[in-house]
Amino acid sequence: MFDKFLQSILTDLERRHLRRWTRISHSPTGAFVAFNERTLHNFASNDYLGLAAHPEVIAASIHATQVWGAGAGASRLVTGTQTPHRALEEKLADFKQTEGSLIFGNGYATGTGALTALVGKNDVILLDRLAHACLIDGARSSGAILRPWRHNDIDHLEHHLRWAHRKHPQAKVFIVTESVFSMDGDIAPLREIVELKERYGAVLFLDEAHAVGIRGQGGRGLADELGLSAHIEIQMGTLGKALGSSGGYIAGSRHLIDVITNRARSFIFSTAPPASMSAATSAALDICMGKEGDKRRTHLRQLTSLLHPNIPAAIFPVILGDEEKAMRASQRLEELGFYVPAIRPPTVPQNTSRLRISLSAAHEAKNIRTLAEALRNFPTP
Ligand SMILES: *Cc1c(COP(=O)(O)O)cnc(C)c1O
Repeated sequence: MFDKFLQSILTDLERRHLRRWTRISHSPTGAFVAFNERTLHNFASNDYLGLAAHPEVIAASIHATQVWGAGAGASRLVTGTQTPHRALEEKLADFKQTEGSLIFGNGYATGTGALTALVGKNDVILLDRLAHACLIDGARSSGAILRPWRHNDIDHLEHHLRWAHRKHPQAKVFIVTESVFSMDGDIAPLREIVELKERYGAVLFLDEAHAVGIRGQGGRGLADELGLSAHIEIQMGTLGKALGSSGGYIAGSRHLIDVITNRARSFIFSTAPPASMSAATSAALDICMGKEGDKRRTHLRQLTSLLHPNIPAAIFPVILGDEEKAMRASQRLEELGFYVPAIRPPTVPQNTSRLRISLSAAHEAKNIRTLAEALRNFPTP
């Protein structure tokens, strides 16, 4: 009975071209990815600076494993906070120029944990419609009154702010958005958002997952680039993309960090990430903030400009609409030697299935030129 039920779910997903499978790769993430016998150009990874397999990052991870063991053994609040964790949090606070920071095992747990820790059912959350699933899930489980605003539409946001001011004058109002959007690669109108936020006395939660390492001085993110960091109450980022390892962080005031430490259930009730993750990320941050980081960012910008003159970060979507069309396009590129995943609902809205090309400093210009050529010869919708 139950198995029949499970089977019907899978059949339905397949019929709608929405079924997903894990795919086993036989190589570290880099310019190439190996699947069984085939090695493909890898345009699917978020390892934007090519740090996941950087020798210094790997060495830091190995060293920390030798010193600290494979696992932390307990949650952060019990005996799971080891010196590499604290060292990373201090380095992140310095990187973000905030009073403090707090790391989580992954970005998803960061978004859900921080939002539920800070927002209650009498509050209002105004969420960009294309915000990441962890922000949607955190917003929903906070129990707050939730209003999505049209993607990057500042007038619509203001409309909601006015509504919240009128209907819920006692509520705290949180604006939640990303700086570089994960599936579209475009950027939020951050200056305008901050301006509105201050005018209406709201609080801003900004997820910089795809901007960290890429935008701003030393890869500090878009808020830093625009000189807005000090105006953003809650800054989030992830450690598994440009920083090459895994995890997430919140950066902000001392009080913000202390409240999240005390209330985020995904922080409290979860085993600390291994020390090797913190050590690897600290090594990656040193590279990111230094000359080599600048070199990698310059190289990445040169690569993106080969694909399109105006890509704000390292993500280039080719929107095809239909799920089946996106799947077929991805398969066709794979036959040509490129791994470019098809992104389908619910990751993206209905009728916006797409190819998502992500570039990395690990690529070489000639790789991008061959991809650009393949795309040019490609039947576009
Ligand atoms: C990837 C991503 C996350 C989740 O981070 P993980 O470390 O992969 O769990 C959160 N927010 C955004 C915007 C992301 O793109």
